[in-house]
Amino acid sequence: MLRPLRLLLLGAPGSGKGTQTSRLLKQFPTIEAFSTGDLLRREVAAKSEIGKLASNYISQGKLFPDELIVDLTISALSSHQVLTSDSSWLLDGFPRTLTQAKILDQKLNSTGAPVSLVVELDVPESVILERIENRWVHVPSGRVYNLQYNPPKVPGIDDVTGQPLAKRDDDNVEVFQKRLDTYRQTMDPIKTYYSEKGILQTVSGETSDIIFPKLVELIKSKFAA
Ligand code: ATP
Ligand code: MG
Repeated sequence: MLRPLRLLLLGAPGSGKGTQTSRLLKQFPTIEAFSTGDLLRREVAAKSEIGKLASNYISQGKLFPDELIVDLTISALSSHQVLTSDSSWLLDGFPRTLTQAKILDQKLNSTGAPVSLVVELDVPESVILERIENRWVHVPSGRVYNLQYNPPKVPGIDDVTGQPLAKRDDDNVEVFQKRLDTYRQTMDPIKTYYSEKGILQTVSGETSDIIFPKLVELIKSKFAA
C-alpha cells in the first residue's frame, strides 16, 4: 500500500513515460494517471474546438499554450475528483514549461495537496531515436506498443479493445527532432525549480525494463504505507 502520491513524470519525448505509467498503474492500482499528450490527442480525435487548435501545435512539435494546457489538466484532475489530500495521481508530460509548473503549484496549493515527487526518466538519446520508428499507439486509451519490445498480439490491433493502432503524426524524424530540442531547451529551469523544493529524482537506464524496478523502489522507499 502507498501513502497518497502526487507524482510528475518528466522525460524527453520517447523516454517511456507512457510505458512506465501503464506499468505503475498495474503495480499501484490506487494511482490515477493523466497524460497531457493523450488528453490532447483525444480532443483532436473528437474534433473539439480545443482539438482543432491542438492538432496544429502537435503536428509541428510545438508546445500547446500554457494557459490552455493547464486548464485542460486541472479539469481532468478535477473531474476525476482527485484534487484531495488523500488521492494519488500522476501526470505524464506535464509540466513542459516553468510557467506550467508554477501555475500547477498555485492551483494545488489551494487544495492542500501539492506535488509530492518529481521523477525524470533519463534515457540516452540514441536509444530514444531508435524507439520512435517502432512506436504505435491506441489513441482512445493512450496504450503504447513497440514493434521490437512489446508488439501487439495481432499486428496493427490493440490487445485490449481489438481496435486499430495508429502511428502518431508527430513521430517522424523531422518533428521528433523538434520535440527533442524543445525538451532540452525548457527542462533545465523546471528541474532547478523542483530540485530547490527537494522533490526531484532522476532514474536512468537504457530500457523500460531497467528503469521500471528502479522507479518502483524509489516510490516505495518514499511512499510505502
Ligand atoms: P512521448 O509521448 O513520446 O513521451 P512527448 O512527451 O513529446 O512524447 P506527448 O506528451 O504525447 O509527447 O505530447 C505530444 C504533443 O502534445 C507535444 O509535442 C505538444 O504539442 C503537446 N503537449 C503535450 N503536453 C503538453 C504540455 N504540458 N504543454 C504543452 N504542450 C503539450
Ligand atoms: Mg507520451
